[in-house]
Amino acid sequence: MKSGSVQPAVAAAGQTVSNIPTGRRLTIDDFEIGRPLGKGKFGNVYLARLKESHFIVALKVLFKSQIEKEGLEHQLRREIEIQAHLQHPNILRLYNYFHDARRVYLILEYAPRGELYKELQKSHTLDEQRTATIMEELADALTYCHEKKVIHRDIKPENLLLGFRGEVKIADFGWSVHTPSLRRKTMCGTLDYLPPEMIEGRTYNEKVDLWCIGVLCYELLVGNPPFESASHNETYRRILKVDVRFPPSLPLGAQDLISRLLRYQPSDRLPLDQILEHPWVRAHSRRVLPPSTQMVS
Ligand code: ATP
Ligand code: MG
Repeated sequence: MKSGSVQPAVAAAGQTVSNIPTGRRLTIDDFEIGRPLGKGKFGNVYLARLKESHFIVALKVLFKSQIEKEGLEHQLRREIEIQAHLQHPNILRLYNYFHDARRVYLILEYAPRGELYKELQKSHTLDEQRTATIMEELADALTYCHEKKVIHRDIKPENLLLGFRGEVKIADFGWSVHTPSLRRKTMCGTLDYLPPEMIEGRTYNEKVDLWCIGVLCYELLVGNPPFESASHNETYRRILKVDVRFPPSLPLGAQDLISRLLRYQPSDRLPLDQILEHPWVRAHSRRVLPPSTQMVS
């Protein structure tokens, strides 16, 4: 190919994305590597640019040896397969991937404003406008996932990245799964977002994600998750009792939404389409769709 001539190309999901050539296999030599964006458990994430088109991406570099040591080849394959097929403005795109002898490289959409978790650490809480906007974005993104029979299972501030305008991008499909699942959860990370049915090792379905965004809504507005306790046992106990206490300062509309999501029975939780219609969400959300975004379903 002549240098400088960029072919519109087909990305992993079969969708045309200019600037990501996929007519041939990519290699690390196709990229200029910039600053590290963060460290993960299995490798690092770098800002990177395609030499040919100057298209900016986040390159996640995973070491095969570590993935094999932990027996996570299956989970990684699933993460790649699931995320590559999801195209939504509030889901982090996985454009493509490649590997060499020692590493697997994931070519990800770059999220310029970083992690929601870090913003929450800095500002402690978010206002109603920001939180309601995030709830609308997540309800829309999860509607799309659930239609494709994908449940995320691990929605929490650490797994939410922020786009150029501060819009939320769901990342980390490492834990996601096709519904329904009989798998039992394995313990890792925070317990604060675990729904009762996962604690009790029962069969669960896509309604686990409704619980998680209820916990998230509370944490964003209050500054800590609702069932946070001194010990794991106490956290479990409070989740199973749905022992949620609202600070009097928490706006009533938000209390109403959260209490409709934090229900012990999965079938009692407010469905995603009704989150989008909830009066508090409608009154405060300022969601705007990025102009370049094509909704593909
Ligand atoms: P794991 O996914 O293995 O549980 P992790 O979530 O801690 O680990 P990564 O997802 O590998 O780690 O990401 C590490 C850090 O890099 C993130 O916390 C985030 O700050 C940054 N990062 C990851 N992906 C992007 C991206 N697409 N755009 C911007 N920053 C990113
Ligand atoms: Mg992550």
